[in-house]
Amino acid sequence: MTLATSSGLVGGQFAPAHSQQIIAVVNPATEEQIGQIIDGDAQDVDTAVRCAHQTFVATGWADLPATDRAQYLDKLADALEARSQQIAAAVTEQNGMPISMSNYLNGPFVVDIYRYFARAAREMPFEETRFSDGVTGIIRRQPIGVAGLIVPWNSPHCLMAFKVGAALAAGCTTVIKPAPETSLDMSLFAEAVLEAGIPSGVVNIVTGGRETGAALVGHPLVTKIGFTGSTAAGKLIASRAGAQLKRVTLELGGKSAAILLDDADLSAFAQTVIPLCSPYSGQICVSNTRILAPRARYDEVVEVVVEAMRSGAVGDPMNPSTVFGPLVSERQRTRVEAYIEVGRKEGADVVVGGGRPKDLDRGYYFEPTVFRKVANSMQIAQEEIFGPVLAVIPYDTDNEAVTIANDSRYGLAGSIWTGDPERGLELARQIDVGQIRVNTMVSGNGFPFGGFKHSGLGRELGPEGVASYTELKTIYPMNQGDSAQSPLTTN
Ligand code: NAD
Repeated sequence: MTLATSSGLVGGQFAPAHSQQIIAVVNPATEEQIGQIIDGDAQDVDTAVRCAHQTFVATGWADLPATDRAQYLDKLADALEARSQQIAAAVTEQNGMPISMSNYLNGPFVVDIYRYFARAAREMPFEETRFSDGVTGIIRRQPIGVAGLIVPWNSPHCLMAFKVGAALAAGCTTVIKPAPETSLDMSLFAEAVLEAGIPSGVVNIVTGGRETGAALVGHPLVTKIGFTGSTAAGKLIASRAGAQLKRVTLELGGKSAAILLDDADLSAFAQTVIPLCSPYSGQICVSNTRILAPRARYDEVVEVVVEAMRSGAVGDPMNPSTVFGPLVSERQRTRVEAYIEVGRKEGADVVVGGGRPKDLDRGYYFEPTVFRKVANSMQIAQEEIFGPVLAVIPYDTDNEAVTIANDSRYGLAGSIWTGDPERGLELARQIDVGQIRVNTMVSGNGFPFGGFKHSGLGRELGPEGVASYTELKTIYPMNQGDSAQSPLTTN
């Protein structure tokens, strides 16, 4: 199967595309074209959506016992597990994520997410009975319908699993629109869907760019949009979906803060600088790109951060020891370079990095970079750069650290590093973000994930993630002795 002639999976088959437009896929480490995909048009989207809709209304998928749907999710996890290394390598070739990270984030991490949703489907009370005010009611969670799932390039398989896993657990059918930068690997995902025996029409895929995504958002038979990507695109999607009262879950940008308290163990923090603050060269939405340092320890913190960023090997993302691969595209690197200029003009100092690595003459590489003398009001502290660029910001009191952390239009994630976990917990309660860690890097699939403010709308993962693909219905059954008359009837 080649995505150069098919716009994706429709009704269990790689249907020939209507669109004749293609998008070139480039390896960001070599700048060479490695493939091409169809830029699906409105008709391709319509074909896939109609198939998903027909499957939803006419095949019994939505009414299948949740335990049966859970079995399909487990089978999908198995099929993906068998292909995880292939998928990870294919993603790295397209988006430049270091292979050691891709092997995990597009491999076992994804498998665990589908297994989690299988458990969630088994455990979710899709129907419960409630007694209130002397009345009995049945509360039924019903799948919402056709879910349009729009995925970005930065960690495609896990961000897709957040959506596909929840939608299938709930009983929805789906149309996935992967990012054009990372679509070649979707043929492996499609193979896994077929191998898992998921009934045809439940999982459909249409490749393409923004217009393909926009056609999915605008399609009247799509009842829910799950989206991860930029805040700008998220706002557009929310407004278009709002015009049709379409449900949305949006996971958008971030400018998260790592707060180092005055009693923090800096040697422990040093180990987390890259995975927490600049994973995948900062192209991960939860990166803690603002590092808040107590003024008395400011120089010490800058030194630790600089040393940590310097320690990461920059180079070929397929090399297992690489920590910083290339940025995903020329456009992304240009954007990062523009921010470096902005930061300099604003009066911040580049302590390390700030340009293209001298020894790499091809690939969209950018040096790991640290800014000091950063004020939180600066553009480089307020806007999501999506590159390996960290800003160290001084503060004087714990209260000021909280104020700075919250002084952001975003509210996705954050962390607190302290010798006193209780003090850390108390501050964590005051930070307006969807998830915050105290002295830890852990996360779990059973916990809601998403953002406050411009970081998104709604939550993925956990039972909350499944619930977002359902509608609630209250059924009042007739009980013995009930009157069929309305209490409003006067005669
Ligand atoms: P984007 O938001 O434009 O694209 C993400 C996905 O949405 C892609 O599949 C894209 O085709 C689709 N899309 C874009 N506009 C759409 C629209 N109007 N309607 C429907 N679908 C649409 O992101 P990008 O252009 O790849 O990256 C730009 C910036 O976005 C980055 O620099 C970064 O700041 C941010 N970003 C954030 C995340 C995240 O995880 N939160 C992921 C990717 C990019």
